[in-house]
Amino acid sequence: MKYEAVIFDLFGTLIDKFPLREHENALRQMASVLSAPPDDFIQLWFDTLDERGLGVFQTIEENVEYICQKLDVSSEDAEVEAAARINLEYAVRVIKPRPDAVATLSDLKGHGYKTGLITNCGAAIPKMLDKMPLAALLDVSVFSALIGMQKPDPRIYQLAIEHLAVKPEDCLYIGDGDCQELTGAAGVGMHPVLIRDPDEDSANVYRVDDEADSWDGPVISSLREILTLLE
Ligand SMILES: [Mg+2]
Repeated sequence: MKYEAVIFDLFGTLIDKFPLREHENALRQMASVLSAPPDDFIQLWFDTLDERGLGVFQTIEENVEYICQKLDVSSEDAEVEAAARINLEYAVRVIKPRPDAVATLSDLKGHGYKTGLITNCGAAIPKMLDKMPLAALLDVSVFSALIGMQKPDPRIYQLAIEHLAVKPEDCLYIGDGDCQELTGAAGVGMHPVLIRDPDEDSANVYRVDDEADSWDGPVISSLREILTLLE
């Protein structure tokens, strides 16, 4: 076999990215139950993306409380809990595996490939993913918020490789290019591939340090195409 393992990013790769407009609506509702100024609340929510990804906030409530303090908004526990619930319900509603995710992972497993996940995500995501059929098809899942490091830190890729017991040069890495994740994967010796859904509504997704425009490596538009890369 050309490769031994296929390692995936989560948002924009195995599952759709958060739709920005719905996300802002949920954040606006959160600000409303907290009596916080909505635009400032939304701004601080996006400004604390790294703190979520690094696990500085281990719960949504901690994130909400931090923002309220920053905005000098006094909030009761019940209001913070209500805001966190809105956030969680929104996330559960929008987090959906891509239509070909389960079938592709099943095929990879059926052909003897190891599978892995490396995601920059908040601390609430691991439990959500655990309830999805995807989880059982991933041999190793590395969640940034649980280990305090994010892509493109080389250590996060190395952790996945160690757990999978594979060499980096035997790994294909599939991601939509946020946070310079493809360059990071190449840096440790993996073979990165950009995935970009041509039907994606680019105005309705939030991207950070996107490297898709400067990417000159292999590109696929759907997960099913991975199977052709392995031939
Ligand atoms: Mg992504």
